[in-house]
Formats: sequence, C-alpha cells, structure tokens
Amino acid sequence: MFRNILVRYDEIALKKRNRGWFEDLLLNNIRSSVGELGSAGKFRGRMGVELKSEESLKEVVNRLSFIPGISSFSPAFKLPLSAPWDDIVECALKLAHEALVDGRTVIKVICTRSNKRYPGTSIEIQQKLAESVLTNLEGKFTVSMKKYTFALEIEIDTNGIFLFSRKIAGIKGLPSGCAGEYLSLLSGGIDSPVASFMTMRRGGRIHYISFYSPPYTGEESMKKLEDLAGHLKKYQGVSTKLFIAPLIDIQLLIKARCHEGYRTILFRRMMFKIAEKIAIANKFDALITGEALSQVASQTIENLTCINDAVKTLPVIRPLITSEKSDTIAIAEKIGTFPISIRNCPDSCTAFLPKSPIIRGKLEKVLAEEKKLEPEISYLLEESVKNVRVVNV
Ligand code: ATP
Ligand code: MG
Repeated sequence: MFRNILVRYDEIALKKRNRGWFEDLLLNNIRSSVGELGSAGKFRGRMGVELKSEESLKEVVNRLSFIPGISSFSPAFKLPLSAPWDDIVECALKLAHEALVDGRTVIKVICTRSNKRYPGTSIEIQQKLAESVLTNLEGKFTVSMKKYTFALEIEIDTNGIFLFSRKIAGIKGLPSGCAGEYLSLLSGGIDSPVASFMTMRRGGRIHYISFYSPPYTGEESMKKLEDLAGHLKKYQGVSTKLFIAPLIDIQLLIKARCHEGYRTILFRRMMFKIAEKIAIANKFDALITGEALSQVASQTIENLTCINDAVKTLPVIRPLITSEKSDTIAIAEKIGTFPISIRNCPDSCTAFLPKSPIIRGKLEKVLAEEKKLEPEISYLLEESVKNVRVVNV
C-alpha cells in the first residue's frame, strides 16, 4: 500500500560544514543498496525512496534498516501539493485502519509544515485532519496529546505531502565511506564479518582480504567468502574488493621448519604482513580483524602481541576485542551473516592446526622461529602479494 519511504538521519546533520558531502554519500549508499527496486532523492533534511512497486516494500525496509547513517524511516503515502483534501483524508483513513488492526486506538495528529506557502497553519491542519478521521470512524478512536498509541503524521514540504504513522529505527552511525577505507581480514568465521560491519557503521568503507590454501581450501570456501562480502555490501551500498591471497607455500615452509606450537602465530603474522602490503599499495587506512581477547589460543594478550608486531605502519582495529561471543552472534544473526558463517568448510588455518598450540607466546621466541624461514620467506611473501586475486563484489 505504500510507494514511498521517508528517510531521516541524525548524526550526519551535526557535522555542519561537511553536511552536503555526508548527505551525498548517504544518498549514494541508499541508491546502490535499493538498486532496481526504487529511486532515492534528497530534500530539506530528509531523503525519500520511491518504490517501483508496492511489493518490494518489505525488501527495501529490510535493506534500509541496515544502512549506516539512517536514524529512522517511515513507509509513507506521498501526495502532490495540489492534492484535494479528500485524497489526504483517504490516506489518513488507510493509516487509521491499519492502527485499528493493531489495536492502537488513541490518536494524536502531528503536522510538520516546512513549506510555508501551503495554506493553513500546522495547528489548523492537525485539527482538521483529526476531525476528518474522527468523524469518518466515529467512536473508534480517542484523542490524547500525551498517551497516544497512534501518531498520525503529516509532513508538508516543497516536494509534496507525506502521511505516515510508523517510524522504523535505522542502525544510526555514519554513512559508510565518510571515515576512510579499510582492509578487513575475512576468515569465513562468525567474528570478522561482524567486525567489518561495525567499522562500516562508524563510516568506514570496507574491502576484504582472505587467504587460501589449495587443495586444503576449495571452491566452497571461496564461495563462502564471496557470499559474505556480497551480503555485507548491502550495508555500504557501493561495491568493494575482495583480495584472495595464496598462503599455502608459506604454510608448508612454516610446517617444515618451525616448532609446531608456534604455527598459528606464524601463520597470522604472515597474513598480517601480506595484508599490510596490500593495504598500503591500495592506500587503505588500517586493517580490521575479528579478534576478541582470550577467545581462543591465538587470541591471548601475549599471542595478540606477537601477532600485532608483524604490522609495522598501519593501525590494526579490532572492533570486537572486548566483546562477548554471544553478543557477536546476536549481531551476526541480525545482519544476516550468521547462516553463511556457519557453513562448514575449511579456512587456511584449519588446514594445519597444531596439536597443542603455544598459549602465551614470547616475541623473541616467535622471531627466532620466524628466522628459520629465511631466506625464502621474503620471496614467498612477495609472490603471495603478486599473485593476489581481486574479486569485485
Ligand atoms: P572469525 O570468527 O572471524 O574466524 P575467530 O574467533 O574464529 O574469528 P581466529 O580464527 O583466531 O578467530 O581469527 C582471528 C581473526 O584473524 C579473524 O577474525 C580474522 O580477522 C583473521 N583471520 C583468521 N583466519 C583468516 C583467514 N584465513 N583469512 C583472513 N583472515 C583471517
Ligand atoms: Mg576463525
């Protein structure tokens, strides 16, 4: 029944000097996310999405509810400024019937009129519309300015007349792309997609890197990564890159020469080194990981310190560092990455899991183990960077 959605944004409105830029970015992200289902425009502190067909409402609502930078939105009826009063009442009555179905029977009419040329004051319009609804649906509603359950809103601006009653919460935050570009280490697990999403919500534009180890990781592992990155694209609108870097030769060298317990730490250090090189070459601002303190053996503070030492110039952002796993799972379910993440297929680290990994690694010991990889390791790292495959998602 609705063909329009009114979109509101808060935080970006605060950034006064950059306002136009923030708005254009958000609008662009909305456009790419809504895609062929509708068209979006901006007008006086609001944005609007016009749907191609009413059937896509549910899907567009779902997409908008995860676009960073949107504070709330409302499926709305849109009428031209020239619309006769009867048409306005007809829309109001449709909303009223919807409210009755939900048992919302205490009404308050709210009029916002930014178009000062439209005849009548906001208060006059409110009263007139309340009267029309109450006479048409006699005895069905009571009026209360404070304890209402059905807010019937009418907004009149230069673009048209909008009527709506429901406000759906957005995820807030900032439009993706306003706060730098990041390279997220995407493992295919539950955590790294959530870490990527959280960075998007603070304005980051995310690209991904993952490591593959054929024949231990196969086509389904690759498909899983592409599905994760493709799914996350919904929230930042514009397309990004998924870098797939080979790791197997490096892993085999580590397996052959180093203490088994240090394997995971060494694998991670090599991943970080490759990721940093690729991030610098692409002028990205930082690396993102899904690491959480004490979650598994590789994530004790000692091991994180040993792993972190491999990155020399870029910051490593770990949005989940103090998160509870159950909270992370709840976010993964909400953003829809969970069902993809739990598909059972190997990632490059599961291929050579040590029987008893070192829990509290010491950096000197790690560096001594790493020395055993010389001189071939520099060449292998260069090769991995050179042979990286880039998928546009
Ligand atoms: P996740 O659920 O994200 O896999 P995890 O709790 O399983 O996290 P680990 O497997 O120890 O933790 O990985 C920690 C982080 O290291 C991941 O969140 C990810 O950022 C990075 N990482 C691990 N393996 C890979 C990989 N094969 N490719 C890219 N990044 C990886
Ligand atoms: Mg993992």
